[in-house]
Amino acid sequence: MDLFRHDGHLTDEALAALVTGMPLDETARLEMAEHLAYCDLCLQRYTDALAGTPLLMPEHSCRESLWRRVRARTVRIFTSRYAAAAAGIVLALTLVWGSGYEGFRLPELPEDRPTVSDGLRKWNESLDSAMSGLNEFFDGLGRQAPPAQGGN
Ligand SMILES: [Zn+2]
Repeated sequence: MDLFRHDGHLTDEALAALVTGMPLDETARLEMAEHLAYCDLCLQRYTDALAGTPLLMPEHSCRESLWRRVRARTVRIFTSRYAAAAAGIVLALTLVWGSGYEGFRLPELPEDRPTVSDGLRKWNESLDSAMSGLNEFFDGLGRQAPPAQGGN
């Protein structure tokens, strides 16, 4: 069997022998491996030949056992997380009720506190002043700019 064609590339026979796992002598394997290491054309041909061969399938698929393990781990994470939160809530409620606390009382607010409408009015005023400042700035720009050339 000829390993190399006249143009120096591997023959189709040699590639087929490599793909099918035909027994080759050590020197031939070494020469083919050396050629495949630097020749992109033959490497592409070898890859194309390999793509047609069936892939090995595992005897036992690990998909089912993996899904079972993922589900078990998810359940464990959720239970540990919510168990810790529930224990925290129970502890807090026990402390609050066990201390004989009368009840929650909201802090007293001062009478002259600012209201929402006051805040809105102030915000409107500041926005108006900012907009008028911006308008003055652009008016000033229009006055200073030289007249546009060309166009009309
Ligand atoms: Zn080649």
